[in-house]
Amino acid sequence: VLPQIPPCDFKPQPYQVRGLYLRVTYYKKPVFINQGYMQWLWDVDGRRYLDLFAGVATVICCHKQLRRLWHTTAIYVYPQMQEYAEKLACLLPDPLKVVYFTNSGSEANDLAVLMARLYTGNFDVITLRGSYHGGSPQATGLTSNADYKYPIPSSMGCHNTMCPDVFRGLWGGSHCRDSPVQTIRECSCSPGHCQANDMYIRELKEMFATTVPNRIAAFFAEPIQGVGGAVQFPKNYLKDTYQLVREKGGICIADEVQTGFGRTGSHFWGFQGHNVLPDMVTMAKGIANGFPMGAVVTTAEIARSFGKGVHFNTFGGNPLACAVASSVLDTIKEDKMQENSTEVGTYMMTELAKLRDKYEIIGDVRGKGLQIGVEMVKDKASRDPLPPEAMAEIFEDTKDMGVLIGKGGLYGQTFRIKPPMCITKDDADFFLAVFTQAVQNYMERR
Ligand code: PMP
Repeated sequence: VLPQIPPCDFKPQPYQVRGLYLRVTYYKKPVFINQGYMQWLWDVDGRRYLDLFAGVATVICCHKQLRRLWHTTAIYVYPQMQEYAEKLACLLPDPLKVVYFTNSGSEANDLAVLMARLYTGNFDVITLRGSYHGGSPQATGLTSNADYKYPIPSSMGCHNTMCPDVFRGLWGGSHCRDSPVQTIRECSCSPGHCQANDMYIRELKEMFATTVPNRIAAFFAEPIQGVGGAVQFPKNYLKDTYQLVREKGGICIADEVQTGFGRTGSHFWGFQGHNVLPDMVTMAKGIANGFPMGAVVTTAEIARSFGKGVHFNTFGGNPLACAVASSVLDTIKEDKMQENSTEVGTYMMTELAKLRDKYEIIGDVRGKGLQIGVEMVKDKASRDPLPPEAMAEIFEDTKDMGVLIGKGGLYGQTFRIKPPMCITKDDADFFLAVFTQAVQNYMERR
């Protein structure tokens, strides 16, 4: 008996598919989405799916602004822009109060690199292996995952240090991360002191001694790696790293494209969960619920060094984008999305951890709020990644039973769960039933 999809009253409009060429990226056959409502998506054949991978906040309406004004920000400024910048800055701690708007996360990260270089007078930038920071030539240099690289030079001066991955990394440390669930393997750290963290910091120091000219412009990190597979770091890693980076003249940049806007539940921004204060924060994706929008927020001091040249972005922060982003902030607050992230996310992770204890191929369950990773392995002893064909079987099976999830990690070995933040506990139960069935089916076939 297949898990039963929860009821939903919304009726999508029919859509007649014409002859089209679509590039297939994720599924064997493209999932051709016709319409969406809250956490639900309908394909062109009228099939309904629970969307666990949109990574956007919720669904909101902005028709009013569409009729009123949608124009360039290269020449004019608008009340919507000022009002939204103020509203956003209020959600960030001092002195992060200067806001720049872009149309995407890649653009935001490009701008962050430019500002860091101008402010510090240094050139080199360090990111973590496994990270994804965007697809522009500059951001591809920051990104450290071969699947997103091309055999052409991408951005000089970008270096990637070892990722402090407490599950797959060399030095363990799994009990020293901030998650409602812990890994199976005991880690040998004493409370409050993570030995793995010491090793990763040592590695970073070695990088300073060998790879960069003793001074750097910036260190970039996502508070929880997204595309990298919801990778979490030992608790003090970012704190210790920020200190080292500042000693080397660099600024610290938090890429909150995935972790921002309450997704991690306990905090509105992912960096707050690490007890650090970055010099710059970049954001996109959920900022405007899927409408193209990004932002860089920094300090007045850093922003001043940027004032010498002319910089503009034709549509970055246009009135429509700002109106949408503003409604998103209201919705997150009014509908208690952040609280919902903690509640449903923690429930999902706790239940997933039970599956991990039951199935040999579920190696790790981790994350915070609704930023969840389920790392699949051949077996728990080796921790070798579950091969792509096996991942694809479980992935397709999950989709066929009506749930869309994501995949990530350096070897494509981690299922990623990043649903719209309006997801309910009933949805979580439906997903858990489907995922259990898909894993069970795979175990019986292999
Ligand atoms: N940073 C992170 C952490 C991301 O996950 C992404 C997109 N996956 C980006 C930056 C780039 O954002 P965009 O696709 O809007 O350019």
